[in-house]
Amino acid sequence: MAASDELTPRGREETTIFFPQTINDLLSTRKQRPDAVPVAGGTWLLHNQSSRFLKLPKALITLSAIEELRRIGHSGNHVDIGACVPLNRILSTGKNILPQILLDTFESIATPGIRSLATLGGNICIQGRTMSTHPTLHILDARLEFRKAGGARWVPVTHSRTDGKLCIEPGEVLTRIRIPLENWNVQYFRRLGSNPISGFEDVLVFAAIARTSRAIISDLRFAIGSNHLNIYRNRDMETLLVGHKIPLSSREITGFLQNLEENLKDEQPGLSAFMRGLSLSLIRRLFSNLPAD
Ligand SMILES: Cc1cc2nc3c(=O)[nH]c(=O)nc-3n(C[C@H](O)[C@H](O)[C@H](O)COP(=O)(O)OP(=O)(O)OC[C@H]3O[C@@H](n4cnc5c(N)ncnc54)[C@H](O)[C@@H]3O)c2cc1C
Repeated sequence: MAASDELTPRGREETTIFFPQTINDLLSTRKQRPDAVPVAGGTWLLHNQSSRFLKLPKALITLSAIEELRRIGHSGNHVDIGACVPLNRILSTGKNILPQILLDTFESIATPGIRSLATLGGNICIQGRTMSTHPTLHILDARLEFRKAGGARWVPVTHSRTDGKLCIEPGEVLTRIRIPLENWNVQYFRRLGSNPISGFEDVLVFAAIARTSRAIISDLRFAIGSNHLNIYRNRDMETLLVGHKIPLSSREITGFLQNLEENLKDEQPGLSAFMRGLSLSLIRRLFSNLPAD
């Protein structure tokens, strides 16, 4: 690991940049310099900076040289994605392996140029807002590996955020994302409105998966994300239609949508009536596309 002051100054203040080559280097640097900010692709840290001098924290740790964080591993029932793998590489390597909804989610993000830098780990670690990947990772039951000097823990994505903030402890880094491989014959992702980094309130991310067999719903999961809100996911709502026959009757659909609307009002008071209406239309569209055989 080396610290370089050559790449400074940025503006009037100097930035120290650490370049760890191994995970152990990284973890000991994190321990010694808890103030140093990890940087993966840098697309979030540097977005919206148009002035002559970049605004950078006092210390940065680059993650991109650490081979272990750039690996993708495949076992029988899951794929492990290193936190520092760019989205484009996940798209090409995972094309025939990863759930289609995850690929669709990544393809909806930014441009191919940005996706060649932007990492999945960086997207997950953005604090205080719901990004496009979060609802999808939630319903797929993905898990996150965090490591710090002397310890590692796996956290389900479903328990990884409180009030939009990632529960990452001081000194920790996100090292791997584990994606379970299951058979979902219905996979549906939509992002409506502007992108989640624009800072506007008009983003809606909807992700749903279902398993159906012989025109019966055997499993259904869906999640809704919007800027600055916690993800909406309600297991009780998800189980309401399990065991029901496809096509669902208009009575079943109307009852479900009324229930969901009330639920969204209670649990997502910040979601505008317009966004609520869009969420209900997306659910309606999902139901009308369930395979009836
Ligand atoms: C034009 C544009 C359009 C975009 N559109 C979308 C969109 O539609 N949907 C969407 O979801 N996103 C969108 N994004 C955001 C983009 O997905 C993120 O900027 C990107 O994924 C972040 O990854 P990165 O590697 O560049 O992270 P960085 O910018 O390097 O880091 C992001 C944050 O995560 C922290 N961090 C990074 N890696 C780790 C780690 N391993 N452990 C701990 N902390 C870490 C950093 O300290 C920083 O706080 C867009 C970005 C741009 C520039």
